[in-house]
Amino acid sequence: MPLVPDISEVKAMKRVEIIAVGNELLIGDVLDTNTNWLCRRLTMMGAFVRRAVLVRDEEEAIAAEVRGALERGTDLLVTSGGLGPTEDDRTVVAIAKAVNRPLQLNEQALRMVAQRYRELYLQGFVDSPDITPARRKMAVLPVGAAPLFNPVGTAPGVWLKVGETVILCLPGVPAELKGIFEHSLPPLLKQVLGKGYYAERTFEATCRDESVLAPVLKEVASKHPQVYLKSKARVFGKEVRITILLASTGNEKEVVERRLQAAIDDLIVALDPMGIVLVPIVSS
Ligand code: ATP
Ligand code: MG
Repeated sequence: MPLVPDISEVKAMKRVEIIAVGNELLIGDVLDTNTNWLCRRLTMMGAFVRRAVLVRDEEEAIAAEVRGALERGTDLLVTSGGLGPTEDDRTVVAIAKAVNRPLQLNEQALRMVAQRYRELYLQGFVDSPDITPARRKMAVLPVGAAPLFNPVGTAPGVWLKVGETVILCLPGVPAELKGIFEHSLPPLLKQVLGKGYYAERTFEATCRDESVLAPVLKEVASKHPQVYLKSKARVFGKEVRITILLASTGNEKEVVERRLQAAIDDLIVALDPMGIVLVPIVSS
């Protein structure tokens, strides 16, 4: 069931795709928490995250996904990983290829990299502040790209507009990805994502068998197509309570909140004859 309102609102909502790059993800050595964090953060900003993929550190694999995202009319494409100083960090090169933009040394990015190495040197974390070829590599960006300051690591993030699509590249280290995001991105993303609004409510139903809830959820969901209604399966047990999530997204806060409340009210009424009560779970 899609978490989308009516078609006119879907058209107005901004479509986001995510590419998580890294061999370590695909051999199962590292869990892809970055995609989850980005999905949550961007959904909360009212974006419609439509697709997310994992790819290896291979230029052609990355470039193919970038081309696909552009063809699908993506408003914001976010990549995670592959921005570092090592040869296997290929994300920026792959993007330049996919969008047909030459690479060049970006002076602003070079200043950012130099500043970060100076700071790390003074903190005693690196042995020299010099800009070596490996460090310089992180400042070589596609023509037209803007670097985003990395307050945690060294590789700047990259912001590149290609036609109607913004491509945003973030490093793989989670603290760096979040650091760049929080340091620079909320105001820039607001401009891209517009005034999208997302709301959700979670309840515990006094019921331990999901199959008992299923027909009621189906009926309420069909009456409220703009609300995503999901019961969360659990392993069976005597004390089990099924969790139910209701969520909606759209352009106007009041409209979204009203439609969410209408679905909750209907669900409460529909469960009442079965003796099932919904207990709100307050998120922390
Ligand atoms: P660096 O400057 O450290 O090289 P990078 O942008 O090149 O940064 P990667 O080399 O791709 O990043 O990843 C660095 C580390 O960050 C990985 O070894 C892994 O531990 C972690 N990491 C990478 N991608 C993810 C992800 N999607 N989710 C969680 N952790 C990740
Ligand atoms: Mg790396």
